[in-house]
Amino acid sequence: MNTIIDSIDHIREERDISREVLEQLLTTDDAEVVEYLRKSARDVADSMYGKRILLRGLIEISSHCKNDCLYCGLRRSNREAVRYRLTEEEIYDCCEQGYRLGFRTFVMQGGEDGWFNDERMCRIVRTVRQQYPDCAITLSLGERSRESYQALYDAGANRYLLRHETADAEHYARLHPAEMSWQHRIDCLHALKEIGYQVGCGFMVGSPYQTFDTLYKDLQFLRSFQPHMVGIGPFIAAHNTPFADQPNGKVSYTLRLLSIIRLLLPNVLLPATTALGTLHPRGREQGILHGANVVMPNLSPREHRKDYAIYDNKICTGDEAAECRSCMEMRMRVIGYETVVDRGDHLGIES
Ligand code: SAH
Repeated sequence: MNTIIDSIDHIREERDISREVLEQLLTTDDAEVVEYLRKSARDVADSMYGKRILLRGLIEISSHCKNDCLYCGLRRSNREAVRYRLTEEEIYDCCEQGYRLGFRTFVMQGGEDGWFNDERMCRIVRTVRQQYPDCAITLSLGERSRESYQALYDAGANRYLLRHETADAEHYARLHPAEMSWQHRIDCLHALKEIGYQVGCGFMVGSPYQTFDTLYKDLQFLRSFQPHMVGIGPFIAAHNTPFADQPNGKVSYTLRLLSIIRLLLPNVLLPATTALGTLHPRGREQGILHGANVVMPNLSPREHRKDYAIYDNKICTGDEAAECRSCMEMRMRVIGYETVVDRGDHLGIES
């Protein structure tokens, strides 16, 4: 009867989507269709992970960056950005606090900061690994050499987040300076997977020059790469960047894409991101209700939070880790979900 509704069932059964259906699903204002997509995705997430929402403690270790991505507030050309880097002790303190709060995954994320070379970073990973043998260590430190990824893996890291940003090389070239290469980023993702990491890729929704064609390529890339995690959130303009005046990404597109990704990759780890929470007061809750199953409360020391300013108006910059943890627990409980003390590995991977 309703052909768009049928096509949602088709995505779920075939784990594939056409370019046309993608555009239809993102642009339709038929409330029944929108709700059917959401509910289908939530059904799939429930059947895989139940009502359990997996927690990751995010530690933003450095706001220094040698790159110049046009969208990012921490790009090297932004002279106004406040630069900090956590000391090793500060990182260990964050982990200690996080462990007490029930986190069993620590995500260390930062700009591409040469200070955190292999010697320092491997020492940090080894120390955290030794101290918390029951925890997963996730890194999100951008592009490094295969040797570096291998050394960090050998030191005890388990997972790596590196958004591909866009699966279209020309689009990539419009978001990044000429010295950055789409192929290199994709090569990094393949290297990470070969080494044995659980790998997360992803993209911004509504980044400048994004089209239905580039989004379609993103989804095809996800289907072929089969990441363990997919991070997507709306693009949010950052002041002092070339994209300062660009419109923000749409919350509705982000939510619908979360649902579509859940249908395409039923057991993927899918965070409801801080960027989504920044553009909508219930954005993260909505993300969960659209098929996400991960949240990443901030564990970074409060005095540095506001300076990890990849985009404007980022939420939770004034809170202590414990407040973020309990706030998230409450937010999830209100919508009928439970945050769990668990490493939260991808289904099908033994810890
Ligand atoms: N340096 C690391 C971590 C980058 S920050 C790396 O290169 O992987 C993590 C993600 O934030 C980026 O991959 C990007 O997709 C997202 N991001 C950066 N600027 C943003 C903006 N203005 N709006 C929304 N998301 C942004």
